[in-house]
Amino acid sequence: MERTSKKLTRTDVQNFKLRLEAERQETVRLLAELEQERRLVTHDGPEDAGDASVTTLARESLFERTSQKNRQLSRINIALRRIGSGQFGVCSECGEPINRKRLEAMPWTTYCLQCQEELERAHTSQRFVGVELQE
Ligand SMILES: [Zn+2]
Repeated sequence: MERTSKKLTRTDVQNFKLRLEAERQETVRLLAELEQERRLVTHDGPEDAGDASVTTLARESLFERTSQKNRQLSRINIALRRIGSGQFGVCSECGEPINRKRLEAMPWTTYCLQCQEELERAHTSQRFVGVELQE
């Protein structure tokens, strides 16, 4: 059975588009919530040392969650643009079709598994270089 990696049909792409749009709305909503939370954390001055550390933790966790959501949002926007330009489901690195199961698990991905792994390795080593340059 060689039909498992067949090209995505128009209907498939439409379904992925609907999922991505729903996901984008949800991400935008969560970002708005996080922004509200951030204002609360920033405005309430800590009463004592115990509160201060809680506030710092809350801020760090908020910052982390916000940047995660922002990254997610830009991935979704890129995927939606790729649907618009007819490139959806094709790895933007090697040009091979992205595994369908992978797309169903994360429709915002723009890389096949192999390229993703290679990019993550490259990214990790780049970050080491970045740290060295800063110091
Ligand atoms: Zn690839």
